[in-house]
Amino acid sequence: MELYIVEGAAGIWHYHLSETGQNGQPTLCGNTRVMHTSLPLNKWGTVGHLKETYCKACENIRPADSIPGAPLKSMIKGCPPAVPEDK
Ligand SMILES: [Zn+2]
Repeated sequence: MELYIVEGAAGIWHYHLSETGQNGQPTLCGNTRVMHTSLPLNKWGTVGHLKETYCKACENIRPADSIPGAPLKSMIKGCPPAVPEDK
């Protein structure tokens, strides 16, 4: 299975996994409100100053060996809350 990272339209800096990488195509978790992004697959799970988050559903669905070197599942941040936590 070839995978691409796509950006969720609902959240900022929130990413899903897609088999096509194209706008509006279903992600592994079934979300179609996504946009193409140039983020390479090997960046999946990495969190930088943008505080990127990654879809836990997509993470759980993807084949374990589909992203060499990806962080452990437990390190993948889930979907962001609707209201940002203020801490
Ligand atoms: Zn997803």
